[in-house]
Amino acid sequence: MNDSRFELGPQYSKDNIFTAKMRLHQSWFRAHILKVPFGTGPKPESTNLFGNMLRTEDANKGLNFLNQSIFNVAKQRVAEGKGAVEPFRLFNNMLSSQPMCFNLFGMMVNDLDLATTLWKQVFPDKIGRIRRVLFEYAPEPKGEYLEDNTAFDAFIEYLDLDDKLSFIGIETKLTEKFSQKIYDKESYRKWMNENSPWLPNVGDSIAQKDHNQLWRDHLLAWSMLEHKDSKYNSGMLMLVRHPEDVKCSRVVQEYESLLNENELAYSDRTFYDMPLDILMSIWKSVPLSDNNSTWLAKFCLRYLELHVSDFNLEFWNVNGKNDVRCSICGCKVDKFLAMYQWPVCDKCSSIALSKDGEPVEGRGDTEDHNPVFINGIKCWRRYRFGGWITIKDPFNCRSLNEFYRKSQMGSDK
Ligand SMILES: [Zn+2]
Repeated sequence: MNDSRFELGPQYSKDNIFTAKMRLHQSWFRAHILKVPFGTGPKPESTNLFGNMLRTEDANKGLNFLNQSIFNVAKQRVAEGKGAVEPFRLFNNMLSSQPMCFNLFGMMVNDLDLATTLWKQVFPDKIGRIRRVLFEYAPEPKGEYLEDNTAFDAFIEYLDLDDKLSFIGIETKLTEKFSQKIYDKESYRKWMNENSPWLPNVGDSIAQKDHNQLWRDHLLAWSMLEHKDSKYNSGMLMLVRHPEDVKCSRVVQEYESLLNENELAYSDRTFYDMPLDILMSIWKSVPLSDNNSTWLAKFCLRYLELHVSDFNLEFWNVNGKNDVRCSICGCKVDKFLAMYQWPVCDKCSSIALSKDGEPVEGRGDTEDHNPVFINGIKCWRRYRFGGWITIKDPFNCRSLNEFYRKSQMGSDK
């Protein structure tokens, strides 16, 4: 008889491609890393079995979290009661973005040195010292802000380099769509004036259903800055999303097209789009304690290294083929890069030349340095916030967008 602990378990036939991949990957993580059987969901009373659900006895042990400290933070937040924290989804559903949010920021709650180190790496020109890391946070009283239940999934409060209070409100997305309802009311519109981040004539298009939730999150951040008694000198909404969620990236592009010029100026913007792979490339460059390195490695395995569950699992286990190779020199690279079919290691990346044969500076906030050439081989770089990822281009594409399109189409996995 099969041991159900090592089975991937039932999947869901109506998932889109990305959700199906992620559901399978969560099922793989449960079976092969946690080594526990699948449970029922997605609601507490559901009787359907799914590979991505934990049984309640395993959920109660905190297995939806990458370690005990994060589990403790999640339990503590649930005990506080306020806000949209659904315990079953949080503790039992491995596919939910809420446990991902705790897994991503939970380690920082009781270790503000760690929080400061990591966020300084993302925004060296902004962050002085992190003061608080909260989950499901909204300012109160609601009547003085948006008069609704909009809240940030995570909230980072910090002192900037001049000791002024600032914040990062965070929306995290894994596979769920943004809420598809259109909300629009006077208590939103009153925050929109000539100084606000939106184009003056956006009209109804800003409230359009695909990005309505993004707009409300952004409005919440903006209202906290504009509130008559605001204690914040600066602040932003950051969207943390999965790089393979193509639909979400299109929604972001549409939303960004409704923002004004000031908003698009890099240093002052109040909306930041942050793909998870870029955030990890930045955080992985920070020297950390063993405990924290393990946490980040586990995070990448659970959420970014989807290729692991794509392989034939027996082949994987028998050959221990858990190393990923640079597509230029063949050396081992960080496993999280393996979500790309043609990853390039840091060493190769460091000798990249522009098309004019000039060395390409490592750090760059612009996309000017594309494509780059390593030993004459064309590669593309994804840049964001001083982090970057280099990928070999086997198609000889003319633009980064064409490369994104082709590399998805060309997937043979
Ligand atoms: Zn290499």
